[in-house]
Amino acid sequence: MANDVPESRPFSEKLRVPEALTFDDVLLRPMESHIEPDEADVSTSVSTNVDLNIPVLSAAMDTVTESELAIAMARNGGIGVLHRNMDIDEMVVEIERVKRADELVIRRDDVVTAQPDQTVREVDEMMEREGVSGAPVVDGNDVVLGIISATDIRPYLEVGESDEVHMAMTDEVITAGKDVTARAALELMYDHKIERVPIVDDDNRLVGLVTMQGILQRREHENAVRDGSGSLRIGVAVGPFENDRAHAAADAGADILFIDCAHAHNRDVIDSAREISESVEADVVVGNIGTREAAEAVVGFADGVKVGIGPGSICTTRVVTGAGMPQITAVSEVADVANRHDVPVIADGGIRYSGDAIKAIAAGADAVMLGSYFAGTKEAPGRVITMNGKKYKQYRGMGSVGAMRSGGGDRYLKEEDDDEGFVPEGVEAATPYKGTLASELHQLVGGMKSGMGYVGAPTIPEFKQRSRFVRASSAGQTEGHPHDVMITDEAPNYSPQE
Ligand code: 5GP
Repeated sequence: MANDVPESRPFSEKLRVPEALTFDDVLLRPMESHIEPDEADVSTSVSTNVDLNIPVLSAAMDTVTESELAIAMARNGGIGVLHRNMDIDEMVVEIERVKRADELVIRRDDVVTAQPDQTVREVDEMMEREGVSGAPVVDGNDVVLGIISATDIRPYLEVGESDEVHMAMTDEVITAGKDVTARAALELMYDHKIERVPIVDDDNRLVGLVTMQGILQRREHENAVRDGSGSLRIGVAVGPFENDRAHAAADAGADILFIDCAHAHNRDVIDSAREISESVEADVVVGNIGTREAAEAVVGFADGVKVGIGPGSICTTRVVTGAGMPQITAVSEVADVANRHDVPVIADGGIRYSGDAIKAIAAGADAVMLGSYFAGTKEAPGRVITMNGKKYKQYRGMGSVGAMRSGGGDRYLKEEDDDEGFVPEGVEAATPYKGTLASELHQLVGGMKSGMGYVGAPTIPEFKQRSRFVRASSAGQTEGHPHDVMITDEAPNYSPQE
């Protein structure tokens, strides 16, 4: 029984402690290689049913992941995890934004339509205003009568501005049903030299629209991570006891629910997480954990496990509570257990450089989650602030006073009524502004691929098996950073540690 007082043993025995290591303590041992870094395949599994094209997640923090960053993450092959410092209705709106972002079929409510008795001038102005170059023409029952486009109403076509739309429209409309695929829609467009196909129900009523522009935009993101119906994927953080939020997120289309708890190796948290996982279709990732025993307690039902007790850049858990696990050891302990059960492992927190990220994979993770690395990007929430002529964005721990005040501290299994009652486990900070997420990801994943090149492993699973660590002394660590020089130009993937 966990609460029984164990037999007394000499206290001094406690000092025979196992060593636990973190990123700077180890380096990847270079090995014979036949692969070029560019050829490395970084696709991976992040949970039982969700695969990614790059092994990267953005943290569920209110200064990191909202819909804009989640859209960019999924378009670039990873996944964003929406934070939970918002009410359930707001969360649903955010999930829907992501799900609709790259939708093939524009939904009826969002389609700009014209009525047959409007004048050509009215419709021309409307299209200009709405930024579209064509519109289905529908009657009062939404039945599609024709389609009107800018080319139909150009002056040289002898249509007067005050003529009615039905005189100018094309009335032989090519339509499709709602199950149309991108390829079939594109074929229709090429065959009939058209740029948009109204989607109709059995009674020829308008239910949506597919456009050439939309299809081409989707093609730009060929590395995107999508669900079965072509929408971008998204993960959503839910509190350990937030069943309502979990169900609302799953109903709104969340692909993965992340049980968001600072110490998930807690019997009540595990019971509740199990209950949630049994009642939703979405995958459920459980975290955070940091030991072999915690992994044993959750692998039976979890679709993924997330590792990190106190490594985060804004985190004060280890100094405030005295508890924690250096991240490389934590990942390897959890991976020992999770790998045997085919449960993916996510290393969460403490990653400053691409080299840290690929070391986490070598230690047994299938993917990595980052907060500070992305908080300074254009797509992260919050505005750019300027201090001493330099640009920054806010970045704060979810266990900081500010974040707990706006969301609650149940991630830290605490209930408090006023600010005085908070015992924070995180700080509020600013991080340099960095530009687009795509360019940050390019550097991060590029560095990880180079790491795979040094080890000679072409895929993530092979890299996990093949890679070996060497121990770096503190002299070795110093040697690993630029030294004995004055840096004159900043590298896009390196800034000196303070
Ligand atoms: P970073 O990538 O910035 O090093 O770490 C991000 C991770 O830190 C998050 O994914 C989350 O697990 C963890 N985290 C976020 N806020 C806090 C906090 O206030 N306290 C602690 N202990 N961890 C935090």
